[in-house]
Amino acid sequence: MATVQTSVFDIFKIGVGPSSSHTMGPMRAAQLFINALGKNNAIKHIRARLHGSLGATGRGHATDRALQRVLPEQLFNSDTDIEWLPDSQDLPHPNTLDLIAEDVNGTVLLEQRYVSVGGGLVEQVMPDGTRVRDCQFVPARPVHHVSSAAEILTICKAHQLKWSDIQLSNEALTHEEVFAKLNEIWKTMRDCIQRGISTEGQLPGPLGVRRRAPEAYRRLLKDGDNRAPLRDPLELRIHAYALAVNEENAAGGVVVTAPTNGAAGVLPAAYAACQDIHGLTDEQIARGLLTASLIAGLIKLHASLSGAEMGCQGEVGSAAAMAAGGLVEMFGGTPEQVEMAAEIALEHHLGMTCDPVGGLVQIPCIERNVMGAVKALHAATMAMRSEGTHLVSLDRAIFAMRDIGRDMHTRYKETAQGGLAKVMVDGSHVRC
Ligand code: SF4
Repeated sequence: MATVQTSVFDIFKIGVGPSSSHTMGPMRAAQLFINALGKNNAIKHIRARLHGSLGATGRGHATDRALQRVLPEQLFNSDTDIEWLPDSQDLPHPNTLDLIAEDVNGTVLLEQRYVSVGGGLVEQVMPDGTRVRDCQFVPARPVHHVSSAAEILTICKAHQLKWSDIQLSNEALTHEEVFAKLNEIWKTMRDCIQRGISTEGQLPGPLGVRRRAPEAYRRLLKDGDNRAPLRDPLELRIHAYALAVNEENAAGGVVVTAPTNGAAGVLPAAYAACQDIHGLTDEQIARGLLTASLIAGLIKLHASLSGAEMGCQGEVGSAAAMAAGGLVEMFGGTPEQVEMAAEIALEHHLGMTCDPVGGLVQIPCIERNVMGAVKALHAATMAMRSEGTHLVSLDRAIFAMRDIGRDMHTRYKETAQGGLAKVMVDGSHVRC
């Protein structure tokens, strides 16, 4: 039985927006390709083929610019050297890309296929179809071999451990190194929030979406926003912070995958607002990140964290489950309550489609992070008001998400061909 092999640093990675699978993943693939080419003066030209979701929404997600950032300008021109191939038939993964290097006569010197599996992680597809994982991040070295939440709860009970202890034990780095790196990640998340709440203006792209985080934050400081029905200072802060992160992401700013770029605002918004209001320490936050990464590891093992595979349930749904479980641990809940909180949050995102309007990570993505963060808060609260016993387990919810994701039509999985993306283009579908 396969076990969770995911490091906390696989899940939380510092990068740039707007999309981990369509920006960070292809950038990483391009870097691996450059490494594989080495110094070869015969190479005169590099081409790319973007398949499936990358072909369908890569322009809106800035995949072309991402590749151009890594591939040398004298060999590759993102305006002319990319084939956009949205057909998703017979692909090893919905996010598949081929990189091809040629000599002056057009003879292929090297061709490699990669899949961008979500959260900025890539795998190389070998000629026999096997996939080799990219190990740029510190790989987990399991002490505790776990493949389910049920096993995690058994280990926690037997050894008086928390979820975060299990993830920490499985990391390759020393505990001090893990906490130091997590502090850096947390600082990057907070910096992103700070930039988002203080940057006015319009997001890039043809939709003309206005940044709303600064105004949301100003109102929060001024009067608690007494013009809105919701007045809870914690939730209002979560609103402003989630908008801030995802507006920064949409603008191509520096963000931390959590577990993806599109869902990057859920967890930091919930954690930062709780830190501000309840005085959580950075060490508690680090524990929350470790817990969240173990939940993500389970989802990645049995389903996927990729919108192109699972729809948005795999991105914002996973982020909410991670945030909810981490919140419970930070507030002193039991391992059973962590499991319950993650399950509640995931359960109430099941079936959620990925239908970004115009292929941009803006509508519905930005607001969706606000909703995911608030759901995480309520899921954690519900779990901590119970004893952690419930009918649907986290393991079952993950399997349900996997099955729903497999059954979901491709047009609802990051292709911008269905749902909101379609009705915004084709108004005839709207009935008044
Ligand atoms: S709809 Fe969800 S899964 Fe799709 S791009 Fe937006 S955040 Fe990502």
